[in-house]
Amino acid sequence: MVKVDGLYKSYGSLPVLKGVSFEVAKGEVVCIIGPSGGGKSTLLRCINHLEEPDAGVVEIDGESVRPATRNPLHRERHLNRMRSEIGMVFQRFNLFPHRTALENVVEGLTTVKKIPRNEAREIAKQYLTRVGLADKINEYPSRLSGGQQQRVAIARALAMQPKVMLFDEPTSALDPELVGEVLSVMRDLAENGMTMLAVTHELGFAREVANRVMFIDDGQIIEEGPPKQVLSNPQHPRTASFISKVL
Ligand code: ADP
Ligand code: MG
Repeated sequence: MVKVDGLYKSYGSLPVLKGVSFEVAKGEVVCIIGPSGGGKSTLLRCINHLEEPDAGVVEIDGESVRPATRNPLHRERHLNRMRSEIGMVFQRFNLFPHRTALENVVEGLTTVKKIPRNEAREIAKQYLTRVGLADKINEYPSRLSGGQQQRVAIARALAMQPKVMLFDEPTSALDPELVGEVLSVMRDLAENGMTMLAVTHELGFAREVANRVMFIDDGQIIEEGPPKQVLSNPQHPRTASFISKVL
């Protein structure tokens, strides 16, 4: 479902991704761990071309995310379509503050997917119900807890019916008692066959839910494998040192 091959990205003279290659199969859950500054967010942002990679290929379900043309209109159309297949959930929820939970979810459906407003509202309700917020659809973000806001953000991404969901530290901005409700929505998604790539330092979640864990440091995949192996018996000293600090 996801193929990343030979990805390079520098900011000015600073190389951030130094040849990253991996694949994620349909329905697979891959957790990415690694120290701050190692390039994890840049990798996710390159996957949906929020950042343009310097080199390398990203394919979603066999189709290249990079536009094949220089024509600005065609480029934008292609990127919009590819991005609608890639759900993204950030550490900061990025909800529109002046819109209710429902309106936040409706927005992408009407603007990107051109779904009529009435139908979009029904779809939005379904997804908000799925993340346990049926009773909060008319609340504004400021009246929701961080965990509830993050669940709105997940519902917003899911409503677009993406082929893959990318999560960038979705629980690290939350108070500890709110982490569980977000992880439980993610666990539910995984169990229902969503293809997921999640940067997270919730090692318990990675151990239980991930099919594979990737340790990324200094712009490269240092080690990857089944969670038990990478988390309990890391082969590389940098992985071992990182895990001992997180635990
Ligand atoms: P991580 O998510 O693993 O903490 P990032 O991908 O955010 O790492 O950052 C990797 C490196 O790239 C860091 O050194 C960071 O300062 C740098 N970086 C990230 N985004 C930018 C940017 N837009 N401009 C310049 N440098 C950036
Ligand atoms: Mg990051």
